[in-house]
Amino acid sequence: MAFGSKIKVATPIVEMDGDEMTRIMWQMVKDKLLLPYLDMKIDYYDLHVKHRDATNDQVTIDAAQAIKKYGVGVKCATITPNEDRVREYSLKKAWDSPNATIRGLLDGTVFRKPISTGNIRPVVSTWKKPIIIGRHAYGDVYSNREIYAPGAGTAELVFTPADGTTPTRRIIQELTGPGIIQGMHNTDASMASFARACFTYALDQKTDLWFSAKDTISKTYDGRFRDIFAAEYAACWREKFAAAGIEYFYTLIDDAVARIMKHEGGLLWALKNYDGDVMSDMIASANGSLAMMTSVLVSPQGHFEYEAAHGTVQKHYYQHLQGQETSSNAMALIFAWTGGLRKRGELDGTPAVVNFADQLEAAAIETVEAGIMTGDLLAVAAPAPGNRKVNTAAFIDAIADTLQKNCDG
Ligand code: NAP
Ligand code: MG
Repeated sequence: MAFGSKIKVATPIVEMDGDEMTRIMWQMVKDKLLLPYLDMKIDYYDLHVKHRDATNDQVTIDAAQAIKKYGVGVKCATITPNEDRVREYSLKKAWDSPNATIRGLLDGTVFRKPISTGNIRPVVSTWKKPIIIGRHAYGDVYSNREIYAPGAGTAELVFTPADGTTPTRRIIQELTGPGIIQGMHNTDASMASFARACFTYALDQKTDLWFSAKDTISKTYDGRFRDIFAAEYAACWREKFAAAGIEYFYTLIDDAVARIMKHEGGLLWALKNYDGDVMSDMIASANGSLAMMTSVLVSPQGHFEYEAAHGTVQKHYYQHLQGQETSSNAMALIFAWTGGLRKRGELDGTPAVVNFADQLEAAAIETVEAGIMTGDLLAVAAPAPGNRKVNTAAFIDAIADTLQKNCDG
């Protein structure tokens, strides 16, 4: 199909630029794959680490507010500064992770979905469709408190009510020698946000939703998650799911793990924070490359922020700075843009924008299936005589050629 004149995107897209190799690829993607085809207004935020530093990180907060205003943002990968980065870029301090800041302001849940091509198959042979992970990104072991008990004593759990009523106490264990103790929490508000984001995203993707935890063992903690999901489903989603022909169910995590390995995929698997952390790494690895994993943050109010799941590809950037050729894969960055554009088109009621996103994704996949790929993919693709490794820019150029050929054809 031909696009003819440029396609108009009705509402501004919030763009967050980033760092290192992904910043270089991001610009190429815009110049070669988007701007020639789209008439779009961009609300631009430069999250380059030096600009975050210069604005005392205000730019990250402004970007999050802009996503709340317009509803859709796309983000390049960014450096989360540690002490090395503070020295490397002469920063005032080790600023927080932009992703954590944006997530905190949007109160979001992160969904990760692999990009599938015909010649790169998941190592689990039954997986025919993507398995999307929905990870609760609040509380649990990530904000725990731990004590090493050097000798015998009583380990206790204590809750002291703010209203001055009697504290609740539970003995965890009478320790007879040295040991370890851990305390974790979650909140009803955060669990409910997580549940709403998962139901919203499953409906958006028209895919079944599974939620799994260990409520047989953790009757109060994991049981609360299960009950909040069940209440949210009954109150707001049952009819919508039935109308869309999709289903929700809760199952024990052991059962979910066993079933997922024999399942054909095409589902959203909602998981508590730690379970989601580990399982999303497993799914990414089973799909071949970090650059084949997309990521979207969905807020309970229905704001969407799209990005690649990988980082700034620092090692490749240093090779690039030394004048060496790189073969970095822009696939997940392209899919961040197409995800954002598709959502923008859906919200604006502009099918031409949705169609462009579909066409660009198809061109990217077709290019890889034709054997033109970056080094990370060549290592995992089904061997074929036409397979060849290309450099960072040549890969994007090849996708641009495929897109143009499909437009002309
Ligand atoms: P990374 O950028 O994800 O890269 C880790 C390795 O994965 C690379 O060295 C490369 O392997 C491979 N890889 C990742 N993306 C690739 C791509 N597009 N094409 C080809 N290969 C790719 O993680 P990192 O090096 O640990 O982190 C670098 C910086 O990114 C850090 O400053 C971190 O704070 C930041 N980070 C940001 C985000 C985000 O903004 N969402 C997420 C994670 C990390 P080979 O070297 O073997 O080729
Ligand atoms: Mg992990």
